Amino acid sequence: MLSDLVATLSSNPYFGAGAGLIGIGTALAVLRRSSQYGLIFFRRQFMITLEVPNNDISYTWLLQWISHQLRDSSRHFSARTTLVKNDEPSSRIQASYTFVPSVGTHYFRYKGKFVKVERTREQMINSGVPFESVQLTAFGQDRQIYIDMLEKARDAALLANEGKTLVYVPTINEWHLFGRPRRKRPLNSVILNKGVLEGLIKDVEHFLSNPQWYIDRGIPYRRGYLLHGPPGSGKTSAIMALAGHFDLSISTLNLSQGTMTDDRLQQLLSNVPEESIILLEDIDAATVGRHYEKEDNIRYQGMKPLTLSGLLNALDGVISAEGRIIFMTTNFIERLDPALIRPGRVDHKEYIGPLTSNQVERMLTRFYPQSTHNEINQFLTQIEQLTDNYSKQLSAAQLQGFFMHNKDSIKDVFANVNQLLCL
Ligand code: ADP
Repeated sequence: MLSDLVATLSSNPYFGAGAGLIGIGTALAVLRRSSQYGLIFFRRQFMITLEVPNNDISYTWLLQWISHQLRDSSRHFSARTTLVKNDEPSSRIQASYTFVPSVGTHYFRYKGKFVKVERTREQMINSGVPFESVQLTAFGQDRQIYIDMLEKARDAALLANEGKTLVYVPTINEWHLFGRPRRKRPLNSVILNKGVLEGLIKDVEHFLSNPQWYIDRGIPYRRGYLLHGPPGSGKTSAIMALAGHFDLSISTLNLSQGTMTDDRLQQLLSNVPEESIILLEDIDAATVGRHYEKEDNIRYQGMKPLTLSGLLNALDGVISAEGRIIFMTTNFIERLDPALIRPGRVDHKEYIGPLTSNQVERMLTRFYPQSTHNEINQFLTQIEQLTDNYSKQLSAAQLQGFFMHNKDSIKDVFANVNQLLCL
């Protein structure tokens, strides 16, 4: 019965053709599927891949190193433009450009092996910050090839950054390099009241060279500093100069800006790059006068903005084997909660005030190294009169701005001195 049916169908030419097509289709599907499995099997067995996401510290280094490897073989790059402004008096803003491999696929040869580079980018709807990653694929099974590459990329970046200070800023929960590494700010370019900068250097030096002291006493190996005083007096500049002197980077966070929450701060502070000073600017704005308003609900996506206890917890959680230095700055120390500046959180407070006559003299001779004894005295007398014997405050930033307006000759300084307090 069944054999009759099979015989009838197979003698039918239409059915035969249909079955043939189905057979070919099935065979192709099987072939395609097995070639996919074969490819996966081949990749698993004979190839090694590495993915580096853009929230990893090596990402920028690696991209730059790859673009160096691709310089002869690829013509598809993305440009990264950075505006560079040195803190040195009279320096001008300059643009600098680096090329990195564009989104897409590239190939280069490394130690005789072909390496495939796939750079991808996805738009993140919530944060607006695109997620990027670079994936490398090479023949072989030895992961050492990637360790080699990452180390080469890091060494090249460190070499390029010698004499520079790296500044990291947060995006969402990760730290990113901000702009190009800046030329280290020389200590002698920051003119503070006598002994203040020297005291800070000594303190940091002592901290960095005595980890055992902390270990022996079971104290977390970290040190907190608070620099307070009016704006433009040199707080941030002093920290930049200290970072340069001790060869540390700076991870800076302005708590008054953006959408900081307890969780986000906790995550960021537990994730700070190694050998980096944590700089919390305008710390008074962190929690003071914060009322949880309706629009906050949208801005913070339902999460509560930073609270004082969240800030304290995050600070207390900052621990690192190589020692953590936290600098906080404020223009309004009286607004800070005592809990925030108790010893253990702030171990060294320093007032960075308006200019004194000693600072005025040092700034004048730095800008006008040829100035004579008489000129110095004349200027000091003018400043005394202008500020009612320093009862009106004059900031270093104001004086620097004034000198920059009159940089061609000290004669202009004397002629225009009345404009100084208007700056
Ligand atoms: P603050 O952090 O106290 O508000 P900044 O360090 O940001 O002040 O200084 C602002 C500008 O003024 C910078 O360009 C810096 O070079 C200059 N400046 C301020 N104070 C000093 C100082 N004491 N010595 C040298 N430059 C200073």
